Amino acid sequence: MVLADRVCKSFGTTQVLKGISLEVERGEVLCIIGPSGSGKSTFLRCVNHLEEVNAGRLYVDGDLIGYRERGGKLYEMSPKDAAKQRRDIGMVFQHFNLFPHRTVIENVIEAPTQVKRKNKAEATSRAEYLLERVGLADKAQSYPSQLSGGQQQRVAIARALAMEPKLMLFDEPTSALDPELVGDVLGVMRELAASGMTMLVVTHEMGFAREVADQLVFMDGGVVVEQGDPREVLANPQHERTKTFLSKLL
Ligand code: ATP
Ligand code: MG
Repeated sequence: MVLADRVCKSFGTTQVLKGISLEVERGEVLCIIGPSGSGKSTFLRCVNHLEEVNAGRLYVDGDLIGYRERGGKLYEMSPKDAAKQRRDIGMVFQHFNLFPHRTVIENVIEAPTQVKRKNKAEATSRAEYLLERVGLADKAQSYPSQLSGGQQQRVAIARALAMEPKLMLFDEPTSALDPELVGDVLGVMRELAASGMTMLVVTHEMGFAREVADQLVFMDGGVVVEQGDPREVLANPQHERTKTFLSKLL
């Protein structure tokens, strides 16, 4: 479902991603950990072409991200085509960025009705189902400011799912939350994984990584230092850098 082939990304003269290669099968969950500045967010942003890669290729569901290939050459996609590609990839950030002046259900139906031109009744009925799934059926008519951070993040997940994505990207979805609110959000993500969603998750929640992820990737300095079965990587890290990083977390 996701294939990264030697993905490189620089900002000016700073090379942030130095050839990231990885593969995620349909229905798999891959967790990415690593120190601040190691390029985790940049990599996720490349996957949905919020950042343009400088070299290497990314494929989602067989589609080359951001470029078209013709006669062995790559041509950059138009912003419109890139936006179309991005519709199939849901993203959830640390800060949920809900529309503050819209109710929860209005937030969830916004993209399906505006971008996908779904009729409002259909979008609303799917939104109700999704709010139920994230445990917020009773908050449909509330405004974001009336919800806790964890509830807002669950709305953000429902909003991303409303576009029926084939892949979900999560960038530290729980790190801005009070500790007691983290569990509900992870619970929703766990159920999403169990339902077969393909997910790339940047997180430092090691319990989640151990129990839910099929693969764990440790990034440092723009490279994948170590990757494998999460239980093995966590119990028995092979590289010094991974050991040092994990020892600081625990
Ligand atoms: P954190 O754990 O703090 O979120 P991260 O692993 O997600 O870190 P990135 O946000 O991907 O790290 O950043 C990697 C490096 O790229 C950092 O040195 C950062 O300063 C740099 N960087 C990221 N975005 C930009 C940008 N738009 N312009 C210039 N430099 C950037
Ligand atoms: Mg980040």
